[in-house]
Amino acid sequence: MAKKNNRIYIIDVTNRDGVQTSRLGLAKLQKTIINILLNEMGVYQSEFGFPVTHHETHYLNANLKLAKMGILKPIILSGWIRAIVSDVKQALELTEVEHLNISASTSKQMIRGKYRGKRSGDDVIKDMTNALDYARTHGIKTIGVNAEDASRTELEYLIKFASAAKDHGADRFRYCDTLGYDDPFTIYNRIKAIAQKVKIPIELHCHNDLGLVVANSIAGAKAAIDAGVDAYINTSVNGMGERAGNADLVSVILAIQKSSGFEDRYMLDERVTLSKSWQIATYASYAFGVDIPINQPGVGANAFAHESGIHADGALKDRHNYELYDYQELGLGEPEVIDTGRKITAGEYSGIKGFRNVYEKLEIRFHDDEEATKILELVRYANVHTQKPLVKKELLFIARYPDIVKEIMTFTPLE
Ligand SMILES: [Zn+2]
Repeated sequence: MAKKNNRIYIIDVTNRDGVQTSRLGLAKLQKTIINILLNEMGVYQSEFGFPVTHHETHYLNANLKLAKMGILKPIILSGWIRAIVSDVKQALELTEVEHLNISASTSKQMIRGKYRGKRSGDDVIKDMTNALDYARTHGIKTIGVNAEDASRTELEYLIKFASAAKDHGADRFRYCDTLGYDDPFTIYNRIKAIAQKVKIPIELHCHNDLGLVVANSIAGAKAAIDAGVDAYINTSVNGMGERAGNADLVSVILAIQKSSGFEDRYMLDERVTLSKSWQIATYASYAFGVDIPINQPGVGANAFAHESGIHADGALKDRHNYELYDYQELGLGEPEVIDTGRKITAGEYSGIKGFRNVYEKLEIRFHDDEEATKILELVRYANVHTQKPLVKKELLFIARYPDIVKEIMTFTPLE
């Protein structure tokens, strides 16, 4: 039986796994808006990028400034690096990052196939603990340790790896089902064994290659809590991630809050709210340029649609007949105003008149021409940067935090 005080927290990886995916990407301004929306949803942590990748540096530091300013708060921003000292060093040199997930490959297949005989299993553990020690002694506040390909790793070695991480001060152990190989029963048993033995909070990082991603994520979380430790589920908005993707954020929240075996038994972090679901799902869909499937849980166009006679009649009499939850809970149902007449958009070649018109509609007034000209210039650059008409959330963000936006969009390739 679950203990009352253990919780399931969300660590979203849209800005890491989502953007590293083939044919998918986000502009740094879009990544920033995703962080803001995740914070508004009460998500515990955003894995917001790659501290050793140079084109991320300005974006990462600007978002860390937003955290200091209280705008990205209380969400924790964490970077993803490899579990080696040189990556930790570089992350500290390039960014102000205070939270890290450090990653090592743990399966025999990957140790053999990736390191080609240069590193043994024990070497991998040594590299990881060295990186952990270095991060700890250089001011990193929280550290998660990732076992890549954990689902194909021998349990005994995984326990040894997680124990070493705990002994060296890791805050969490991330179990990566990198290939989506687990099923809900195998992951439950494996996580329970690790959590009971090592007593370390566990992150579930699952993939959807067999269509089991949400089921595996919550089965793993249940095992962690049954063993008396906190669970952290890695999600991404609309399930964007490598290959068949990661666990969809909204689906995971729904599964924990609404399923028959979880509701009132396995508690999700109380700060999480579904009310921004529609907003974040539609924004990510727009930013990635990937439509939301019609049958996606909660936010798909058919999630609350009824047509067949018996269903429509039943739903109209009492929505509980055919709906498990209310669309209003997910922030749906607000009428959207669509201009069908003349449209003035703000873009890379906009002039000051059209630009003022756009902002007046958003009820933003500028103090003087100088300020208006400055924001216009940033809006032009932002449009070059995203290559899409800017949406309200982006336009407001640019007007409110022009200096941060400037930093986010600054790129200086190395010589
Ligand atoms: Zn992944």
